[in-house]
Amino acid sequence: MDAATPMKKAPAGKARGRLFFANPGPTNIPDSILHAIGHVAVDFHDPDFMKMYDECWEAILRIMKTTQHMFMYTGSGHAAWEAALVNTLSPGDTVLIPETGAFSLSWGSMAADLGITVQTIECDWRQGVDFAAITAALKADTAGRIKAVCAVQNETSTGMHLPIDQVRAAMDAAGHGALLMVDTISSLGCMDVRMDEWRLDVVVGGSQKGLMLPTGMAFTGVSDKAMKAAETSTMPKHYLNWKAMASRKQRSFIGTVPTNQFFGLRESIRLIEEEGLENVFARHTRLARAVRACVRHWSGNNGPQLYCTNPSRESDSVTAILMPEGFDAEAIRKTTMGRFNVSLGGGLSKLGGKVFRIGHLGDLNEPMILGTLGAVEMALKINNVPHAPGGVAAAMASLTEA
Ligand code: PLP
Repeated sequence: MDAATPMKKAPAGKARGRLFFANPGPTNIPDSILHAIGHVAVDFHDPDFMKMYDECWEAILRIMKTTQHMFMYTGSGHAAWEAALVNTLSPGDTVLIPETGAFSLSWGSMAADLGITVQTIECDWRQGVDFAAITAALKADTAGRIKAVCAVQNETSTGMHLPIDQVRAAMDAAGHGALLMVDTISSLGCMDVRMDEWRLDVVVGGSQKGLMLPTGMAFTGVSDKAMKAAETSTMPKHYLNWKAMASRKQRSFIGTVPTNQFFGLRESIRLIEEEGLENVFARHTRLARAVRACVRHWSGNNGPQLYCTNPSRESDSVTAILMPEGFDAEAIRKTTMGRFNVSLGGGLSKLGGKVFRIGHLGDLNEPMILGTLGAVEMALKINNVPHAPGGVAAAMASLTEA
C-alpha cells in the first residue's frame, strides 16, 4: 500500500484486544465484581446472606446520603421509575416534567401510560431547562393538581446535568408541596446525590452505571413524605408495591431475591468506599473535563462539537458529541467498534445519527479515556470528518494540569 493512501477499510474479521467500553451504561464491570457475582447459590433467608444484604442496604443509603427509606427491585431503571410513580400517585394526578432530553420524556410517557396527566416544561435540549419556568409552573398550579416534579439529574441522552439543588430551590420559591422525584440512574455513584439535604422524596437509581454492576437491579430512596403519599395512592400495583415490600424480612423484592447481584453489589460498594465516594466524584469530574477539552479541540476546524452549549449543565458522566452537518455519527461508532474494539453510545430519539456519546462513568481511568479518544480521533480521520487533529493531546494537557 502506498503511504499516501492510508488504509481506510476495517480489516476483515473481528477487532482484537480488550474491548474498550465507553458506553454510558451499562458500564465496565470490574473483574473483582465479575468474580464476586460468580458465587454458588445461597438461600436468601440464610443469616450470613442477610447480614451481607443489610450491609449493602446501609451502603446504598450512604451513597444516596439519606437515613430514610429504600426499596430495591429486580429490574432495570424502568422498574424504579415505575415504582416511584405507582406508589405515590393516583390516576388523574399531574406530574411536572422539566424536559432535559429523551429520558425525561420517556419517564413522562410512562406516567401518561399509567393514567397520570403529564405537564412538560419544554426546553432547548442543548441549553437545558430554565429553573424560573419550574417556579412559574408550580405557582400557576393554584388548584394543587401537580403532585410531583420528576427531574432527571443526569440526562444520559444529551450529556447534560440538571443541578437538583436548584430544582429544589425553584420549588421552594413557589411554595408548592409537590414531591420531588429524581432520576439518578446515570449519576448515582458518579456525582453527588444528597437526598436528605436537598429534600428529595424519591431517588431512582440503577445498578449498571456508577455502581459498575450488570443491569437488573434498581433502587428507590424514599422520604417520609413519599411514604405518607403512598398511604393514599390508589394506583394499581403488586410487584412494585412498597407497603407489601415493607412487611417482608428483606423490606424489598416481592419474590426471589437476586442473591448473586448482592455478591456483586458488596464488591462494588467495597471498591467505591476504598476509593472514597468524594474521590470517585473527583475522578469523574477529571475525566469528563479531559473529554470536553478534546472535543473542544476537534471542533476547531468545523469539526464535531459538544452537544451541550451551557457550561453550567455539562455532565461528569457522559458527553454527547454533535457531528458536523452531513456527517453520520453511526459511521464513527461503526469504525471505532469494528476497527478498534471501542464501543461508544449512539444518539437517542431525535439525536439518532447526529450525536455519538462517550460514557465516562464507572470503572474508568485516564489511559482508558485517552485510548477511547484516540480511537475516535482516528475514526474521524478515516471517515473524512473535518476536525482539528490533536484532541488527545488537549485531553492529556487537561489531565496533567495542576
Ligand atoms: N434514566 C436515565 C437517565 C437513563 O440513562 C436510563 C438508561 O440508560 C434510564 C432512565 C432507563 O433505565 P434502564 O434502561 O435501566 O431501564
